[in-house]
Amino acid sequence: MRSRLPNVGTTIFTVMSALANRSSAVNLGQGFPDFEPDSELLDAVNAAMRSGHNQYAPLNGVAALREAVAEKISVLYGHRYDPETEVMITAGATQALMTAVLALVHPGDEVIVLEPVYDSYIPSIELAGAQAIRVPMTSAYRVDWDRVASAVSPKTRAIMVNSPHNPSGMILREAELRILESIVLRHNLLVISDEVYEHMIFDGEPHRSVSAFPALAERAIVVSSFGKTFHVTGWKVGSVVAPREIMAEFRKVHQFNVFVTNSVMQVGLSAYMQNAERYLTLPQFYQRKRDFFRQGLAKTPFRLYPCEGTFFQLVDYSAISTQSELDFCKWLTTEVGVAAIPMSAFHQDPVENKTIRFCFAKKEETLTRALERLATLA
Ligand code: PMP
Ligand code: GLN
Repeated sequence: MRSRLPNVGTTIFTVMSALANRSSAVNLGQGFPDFEPDSELLDAVNAAMRSGHNQYAPLNGVAALREAVAEKISVLYGHRYDPETEVMITAGATQALMTAVLALVHPGDEVIVLEPVYDSYIPSIELAGAQAIRVPMTSAYRVDWDRVASAVSPKTRAIMVNSPHNPSGMILREAELRILESIVLRHNLLVISDEVYEHMIFDGEPHRSVSAFPALAERAIVVSSFGKTFHVTGWKVGSVVAPREIMAEFRKVHQFNVFVTNSVMQVGLSAYMQNAERYLTLPQFYQRKRDFFRQGLAKTPFRLYPCEGTFFQLVDYSAISTQSELDFCKWLTTEVGVAAIPMSAFHQDPVENKTIRFCFAKKEETLTRALERLATLA
């Protein structure tokens, strides 16, 4: 069979979760919480289902949820999107990213991505008939803006950014967004900004959304995910915001991609979002988990990278093993009983930095169990 995606197999997240299940390992691989969402959110969804919200939602999403998203962005980032024409609700961020790329990128275009890169970006670009131009981050997982600037060519259509960054936990600072702004203005580029971890940011740092920078907001589509923010990754509900002209193109593809997103979750989420505390308290909630996990890891031979945001922690294992990242992750899962994700999964070339990613979106008892097992490596 001639494949549209000849280099793609099953995603590493699925592979490692299956291995973790088979091995009864603590699964710190695929990024998802192992705790339940707030029961008030479940009640809100139940109430929506019981009160007749069981047919198709409007094409752009349930009005109350679009309004809640627009209001949140206005308060937090100072940009007012029109809930009718500039906000859409999607079936999660993965669909939003794919739809954005298919809507905005033409065959033969180039799209700049920063490597390590989230696994869905390059396949989305390739399905659009375009080419991904990979710009490596520095060894400390910062963006090398000079390399980004020199990767721009006359064919460049867009740049995809992700802050807080999966897998590195890096966050973009204001000065970096100013550089991004100058690059995209100079070359008339679009920005696809993946901000699914916008509410998981630590040590008092603010999230710098692309939407907070007027010149960037004018040419950007910003993606977020309720799954991350409200501990419901299985619900697959996300949002996008963009200026009207960009959104009109997004909308055309979305309607044939999923048509509309499931109505009940949207109604429930819109009621739940009325209380802003529910997402504004997330940094403290996840910072406690980060600190607890890091303190435990500090007693093992792993070397820790900084973690400024997301629910991921990178560690270097070169004091423990010379195995490749994938082999080490498999060994750690089957022999030590803790699953992780190899960093090589976020690279196209066979890069080996002896670095793996743990997810700490877990109950304290789960993290304790994992740390007890990892302590045996000392
Ligand atoms: N982008 C990034 C950087 C992610 O980490 C994820 C999921 N972990 C997604 C997009 C996809 O989010 P969703 O589950 O809402 O499709
Ligand atoms: N984005 C999640 C992660 O990075 C997993 C989502 C998925 O399995 N596609 O672990």
